Amino acid sequence: MTEDSDGANAREGGAGHYTVDGHKVAARPLEPGLYPVATPIGNLSDVSLRALEVLAAADLVACEDTRVTRVLLDRYGIRRPLVAYHDHNAARERPRLLAGLTLGKSIALVSDAGTPLISDPGYKLVEEALDAGHKVVPIPGPSALLAALVAAGLPTDCFLFGGFLPSRAGQRRQKLAVFGAVPATLIFYESPHRAADTLADMAAVLGADRPAVLARELTKRFEEVRRGTLAALADGAREVPPRGEVVLLVGPPGEHTSDADDLDALL
Ligand code: SAM
Repeated sequence: MTEDSDGANAREGGAGHYTVDGHKVAARPLEPGLYPVATPIGNLSDVSLRALEVLAAADLVACEDTRVTRVLLDRYGIRRPLVAYHDHNAARERPRLLAGLTLGKSIALVSDAGTPLISDPGYKLVEEALDAGHKVVPIPGPSALLAALVAAGLPTDCFLFGGFLPSRAGQRRQKLAVFGAVPATLIFYESPHRAADTLADMAAVLGADRPAVLARELTKRFEEVRRGTLAALADGAREVPPRGEVVLLVGPPGEHTSDADDLDALL
């Protein structure tokens, strides 16, 4: 296990505590198991007390990028051993983490931001931990898709999260055509430099008049929620390209949307 360089120090100093507003709190010991822990999507105050408890008490914190997670842990005075677990080393590290669970360790799993497993690493680890009979305990918290949904002003009773759409236009349009008739608010993650193209594809495939939202930099200094039709948002994103992290949402189909024949033609 490629333990973080100061892992040994972390075990000795301050382990088992977290600090909030200068108050040092002792974390209760954790039962063995895997703890997927949601962390902030920008504003470091958006972390739950339970998340801090688990991060402060875990034997090991598995994270995408140790530098990113260290910023959060430092903010709350938490010193635990960190190990990198990301797409490029997952196949190698997963057996080691599973072996740790078998030895009775408690392992917190975090990603760079938001909820692990949601367009982030962790699914295979959770699956294999469960298959091996280990306990998996979710520690819920922020996720960009829900933050965007509640700020969007679009229906929330039924929604479909589509993750990241394909970066190639043809595949993206095909996927959009599949989602297009679903009677739900659609939610996608997108990189800022592709947002204008994706919105234009959405307008072409889902209908130019369909209500939509571009939410960016949520919980951060330049938080912005742009509302409009798909056509208007596509034009806007072309004129003023969004910067930072972006979520795109599309309202459910109404009478202006493509009927089944149109969708067949598009597919
Ligand atoms: N696991 C994370 C979650 O629960 O939201 C998502 C990780 S995914 C790799 C990163 C994408 O989430 C970004 O490209 C963006 O689409 C979205 N995202 C993350 N933070 C965001 C924020 N503060 N504002 C808007 N979108 C955000």
